[in-house]
Amino acid sequence: MRPDPIADQRTRDIRGEQVKLLYAQALLGAMTSLLIAPLLVLTMWNVLPRTVLVAWLLALEATVLIRLALTVAFQRRPDPGAEAGRWAARYTWACAASGVCWGGCIILLALSPSLVYDAFIALILGGVLMGGVFTMSSVLRAYVAYALPLGLPPVLWLLLRDDPMRVAMGAAGVLYLLLALATAQRFHRTLARSLRLAAENLSLAQFFAKAKEQAEATNRQLADQQAALRDSVAAMRQLYEVISIPRRHARDQIQAMLAMGCQRFGMVIGILCHIDGERYEVAHVLAPGGEVAQGDAFALADTYCNDTLRARMPLGFEHASAGPWRQHPCYQKFGLEAYLGVPVRVGDQAYGTLNFSDFKPRATPFTTVDRELIQIMAQWVGGILEQERMAEAARRQQALLAHASRLNTLGEMASGLVHEINQPITAITLYAEAGLTRARNGPLGVVETRDVLEKIAAQSARAHAIIHRIRHFARQTKPQYAMVRLNDVFEDIADFLNLEARRHRIGLRYDIAPDLPRVLADALQVQQVILNLVRNAMDAMSANTGPEANAVTISARADPKEVKIAVRDSGSGLAPDAVDQLSYPFFTTKPDGLGLGLSISRSIIEAHGGRLWATPNAGPGVTFHFTLPAAPAAVSEHAVEVLALNVD
Ligand code: ADP
Repeated sequence: MRPDPIADQRTRDIRGEQVKLLYAQALLGAMTSLLIAPLLVLTMWNVLPRTVLVAWLLALEATVLIRLALTVAFQRRPDPGAEAGRWAARYTWACAASGVCWGGCIILLALSPSLVYDAFIALILGGVLMGGVFTMSSVLRAYVAYALPLGLPPVLWLLLRDDPMRVAMGAAGVLYLLLALATAQRFHRTLARSLRLAAENLSLAQFFAKAKEQAEATNRQLADQQAALRDSVAAMRQLYEVISIPRRHARDQIQAMLAMGCQRFGMVIGILCHIDGERYEVAHVLAPGGEVAQGDAFALADTYCNDTLRARMPLGFEHASAGPWRQHPCYQKFGLEAYLGVPVRVGDQAYGTLNFSDFKPRATPFTTVDRELIQIMAQWVGGILEQERMAEAARRQQALLAHASRLNTLGEMASGLVHEINQPITAITLYAEAGLTRARNGPLGVVETRDVLEKIAAQSARAHAIIHRIRHFARQTKPQYAMVRLNDVFEDIADFLNLEARRHRIGLRYDIAPDLPRVLADALQVQQVILNLVRNAMDAMSANTGPEANAVTISARADPKEVKIAVRDSGSGLAPDAVDQLSYPFFTTKPDGLGLGLSISRSIIEAHGGRLWATPNAGPGVTFHFTLPAAPAAVSEHAVEVLALNVD
């Protein structure tokens, strides 16, 4: 059989309890001996030798005192149940000594002058024997050690007498002794059983108490987990609300994220900082109190972000002055009590940190959900910044391409432009020569001179205007967004359009609403798109010499949301497979074409928030359309600046 440690322990516990009971009854047992023995001695005082009586009494009471001393020692121990075996043995020895002393009554019996005294002594012994059953049988061997020396000698002595009364008393004594032993054993067993039951009850109660405690702990844990789950769902919802609203500009997205973080973490300041070497620069900030502003710079070592970068994970504390953070330069200089920050990476490069802080301590500690949330926020912000970088690179690329394309257009228009400049120069020459001839034939009058000079000035202004337009068209600048009137845009490009019309000998018709709304645009780029579409239209019509091939129509209409511009020709039209390819760069059907005009035009229009597309005409030719979003009527000058900046 395998050892059962629990059962063994229980047995040990029961033994301990039995010993405790033994000692608990000790006083009662001692009292009995202390009272009954003197009574016996008093009764026999005049009958038996007193020295014998006193010696017997002293011996007996000495054993009783030993038992009492043991009891006191036992009860003084901090854990009286421990070493139960040893304490039981000590008491057993003391009981045996008491038993021997009581058994010493045999001497009193021997000296007893009459049967009455014998009977009295036997009665006392019987009572003491039975009394021991109740005070000692919790440890059976203690009782046996007490009862046998107490009962056997007097009983044997009585049995061996010649006197039938005494023999009868001896026989009764044997019966008493057996009865006492049997009762003691019964009593011992019953006691042991009830102790076992009590122990089992106790361990059952302990088991239930433990199970209850565990269930309560599990409940608490579940409740905590549930609360954390609810919190994380709420955090995800907040995050989703921020990122699901489309915002045109990265700056607005980041501001919205900072506002959400401040609200969620209960902080007043939200910062996205850029860290360059040892320099900490505020790239975006939400600080309603104006404590810190965009562009502010600090030494990295003076900020908690220094530690955040080193930690490479969310770093947060709620009460700086209550712990070692109060030594930090950031606390010493700015007094920021609560802080939660996380490193931000853009692509595979470190950018800075996203952090939230407050001058007041935070009442509750940051949760795991808070730390996970700020990590996600930082990843999202990193993504936005990366997109922004890529968009910026694309914008620069697009501007370069647009410029190259404008130069190419100018190159293609060079002969026409030279002709266009030559005309006023030729006219100037002619006017100057005519004036000179007139002057050689006699002095010129004031009116004549003024007339010639005015004509020369007008022609030179015309030449100058053309050269100015060419230079303007050829310049390379960053896109310059401003509120522009499209009617002005058409006017500015009219010279170039007319030039193309003359070169192709094709008419140009304008169907432009007189008061188009303003649009937020780079006028030069929009001119480039119009010129590109008109030149393509005229190229397509040059090949087609049918009766309808007489004009390209430029129309512009507006609705509250956008301005729609269309360039309609009656040229060769688009082959079905060409329609799909128009958006791709380098698609061209012209022998000397580059195939870049349409793709650049499309990217220009899309960068303006519009669309460009082509539709075949009902008759010959094709119509190219593009839209530009109308600017809000009440847009202020400041807003224009901001918008222009953002697009930039
Ligand atoms: P390129 O003018 O250098 O060819 P574009 O990108 O401006 O480059 O035009 C690409 C091609 O689209 C042209 O080669 C032509 O085949 C087609 N296309 C453009 N506009 C028209 C039009 N109005 N009618 C017919 N085809 C056109």
